[in-house]
Amino acid sequence: MKIRTIETLALKVPIGAKTFYSSQARFPERNSLLVKITTDDGLVGWGEGGQYGPGEPVASAVVDVLGPRLIGRRADQPVRIWEDNYSFSRDFGRTGTYVEAMSAIDIALWDIWGKSLGRPVHHLMGGAFRDRAMAYGTGCYYPEFFRDTPRMMEALAEEVAGYEAAGVTAVKIKLGLLSVAEDRARIELIRNTVGPAVRLMADANHAYNAATALRIGRVMDSHDFLWFEEPVPPEDHDGYRLLRTKLDTPIAGGECEFARFGFRDFIGKGCVDIVQPDICASGGFSEFAKILATAGQHGVLTIPHVWGSGVAVAAALQAIATIPPMPHTAAPVTLQNEPMVEYDRTMNPLRDGILHENFKLEDGAVAIPDGPGLGISVDEGALAGYVAQRRVVEG
Ligand code: CA
Repeated sequence: MKIRTIETLALKVPIGAKTFYSSQARFPERNSLLVKITTDDGLVGWGEGGQYGPGEPVASAVVDVLGPRLIGRRADQPVRIWEDNYSFSRDFGRTGTYVEAMSAIDIALWDIWGKSLGRPVHHLMGGAFRDRAMAYGTGCYYPEFFRDTPRMMEALAEEVAGYEAAGVTAVKIKLGLLSVAEDRARIELIRNTVGPAVRLMADANHAYNAATALRIGRVMDSHDFLWFEEPVPPEDHDGYRLLRTKLDTPIAGGECEFARFGFRDFIGKGCVDIVQPDICASGGFSEFAKILATAGQHGVLTIPHVWGSGVAVAAALQAIATIPPMPHTAAPVTLQNEPMVEYDRTMNPLRDGILHENFKLEDGAVAIPDGPGLGISVDEGALAGYVAQRRVVEG
């Protein structure tokens, strides 16, 4: 079971009229960087690296730097290979692109290892605590016409009503592109549009300084929001701690942190109530186990971030299966001590159109695959239409 080839596939798809904004950027396309590893005995594993940054630098880290050292190595030793990759790139890596590349390789190797044994990744990681995860819808971004307030508000009401009709029981909305006054109006519209049974969270994508985050956070407090995600930049640990002290709404974050070392500081300094490692960015399954252990020791609930292709969703579901109720109770309650899966509702053919499987909602939950490895099969025919760049490392 030796690694024979490593391919990178940079996928891109323009989304035309569905173009949207977060507080940080305009999104005219969706992209994902997939890694496909093949062994000498014909096993194939898939991984994904990064969340929404460009895929090509991650591909270069895989193909030009890390990958050539892995050809001929045993595929069923992902932790060992992670440590070797991290040690090799420590002096020039440690965060960002290199850890994203390591994440993709790691996910693909766990997929191969699981397939070689006929067991899902969550089994190899020690066993599943659940076979389904309640889903929260991520949406309510800003449209291209966000400066046309009446039109934006009308579209927002229509969108959020659609989630409720589709059976989504929790919705995460976007904040931070507009002023506090304008975003307060969006919050109030959404709260008044959906019934009280729909739970709400908000994500600012680190748009605010602590003082401004406190102002909008108090609006969330008055509307019983379940978390306030990335209120301030990831480097502002003092800002995070201040908000956690001053607001009733739980504070969430972590999608921009990397490896156990970033999370040691982020969790250990008391920045968050809910930590959100992205499996495809923070170090794959090997590192997720260590981040989860750190969170557990600090009484922090882990709810992975996921915003990528169908491969990323599958990886997140495998990881979510392994999260113990935090803390234990005999009947865990969603979001109190039981994780959810992020269910991105923006247009993304890479999420919905490259697998033979489909992650459908049933009673507000998504089933966790229990087939070998990631429990999915990639539709390479469908995938081919989205490949913008393909690179290969082979022996
Ligand atoms: Ca986020």
